[in-house]
Amino acid sequence: MVNGELLKIKLTVHHSQLAVKKMLSAEIIAIGSELLTPTKIDTNSLWLTEKLNETGIEVKLKTIVGDDELRLEETIKDALKRSDIVITTGGLGPTEDDITRKISAKALQKELIFREDVLAEIAEKFSRMNRKMPETNNRQAFIIEGAEILPNPNGSAVGMSIRIDEKFFIILPGPPRELQPMFETRVLPKLRENAGEIFVKRKILRVAGMGESALDELIAPIYKEYETVQTTILFNKSEIEIHLSAQGKTESEAENLLSDLADKIAEKVGIAVFSMNNETMEEVVGAILKETGKTLAVAESCTGGLIAQRLTEVSGSSAYFIEGVVAYANEAKIRTLNVSPELIEKHWNCGTDRRK
Ligand code: AMP
Ligand code: MG
Repeated sequence: MVNGELLKIKLTVHHSQLAVKKMLSAEIIAIGSELLTPTKIDTNSLWLTEKLNETGIEVKLKTIVGDDELRLEETIKDALKRSDIVITTGGLGPTEDDITRKISAKALQKELIFREDVLAEIAEKFSRMNRKMPETNNRQAFIIEGAEILPNPNGSAVGMSIRIDEKFFIILPGPPRELQPMFETRVLPKLRENAGEIFVKRKILRVAGMGESALDELIAPIYKEYETVQTTILFNKSEIEIHLSAQGKTESEAENLLSDLADKIAEKVGIAVFSMNNETMEEVVGAILKETGKTLAVAESCTGGLIAQRLTEVSGSSAYFIEGVVAYANEAKIRTLNVSPELIEKHWNCGTDRRK
């Protein structure tokens, strides 16, 4: 009887573990000294983050490391201690400063093995372009022992995927046109299998006329109730964005969580939430005007036409937008818009002499 109960408990625990497979954590290491200069941006990690998030894998950390052996080795070792998936990009070129292969092998305490077949393929690519393969490209034929080779139809550097216990270490080339197809065709399907059935859905609410902290004070008690929805509050120009990212075991579970929380926030904040699906203020204004059959004209001073420009950027705005006047100088306000000089005198606070 006791044994029977124990067995039942064990089975229950096992079942719940299967149902709630944990969300895998990933980290990205972008390698290349050029990425530490103000002129070159690490776009690979942005692209990879989007793809990983879509698959229900959270990116916990991104690092940019120059072509520096010690720091790269340290970074790889640390990354493998804390993350389920570690992805490196760059540093696979044939030149002396491309150190990813060598340092990854060192960090993993594995050998680099020269592969004739990989070299033959690289040589073949050069000959197809009627070019002689430089000696230095031999370097690209060294593969970390035990690694799966990720072919590169768009370049000479192959990628690598290495399974270390439950973790994945993935080495990708730097050029986006090489990295992207390699990741989509060779890496993502494998990660998907291991990520479990976790779906991530996102929503952006926009708020106007409130400060960040006042908004947070108001909605924190609501979003804190939702453990599987990540809520981020961001200030963006004159507005505040509430980013919601929900995880669920099914697509509809994630979607329901998201709309539940979004509705509760909107109800609490009231009219200051002007958009539930990331629409811009001008889109929302346009939709209201269309719905109510009203038209709009604007007279602007300090904004110099910016409001008219935003309103007319919305496609179909000709249905409701009539005209915009930029009356910058005070004489123009009096002459063109018929504003009384006394009114200007009373309310003038726009700034400089040049506008008088
Ligand atoms: P590498 O593999 O380090 O020789 O890099 C080759 C080229 O890929 C670089 O010159 C960059 O143009 C590009 N690249 C490398 N890393 C990145 C990155 N993180 N984001 C965008 N482009 C990159
Ligand atoms: Mg490089």
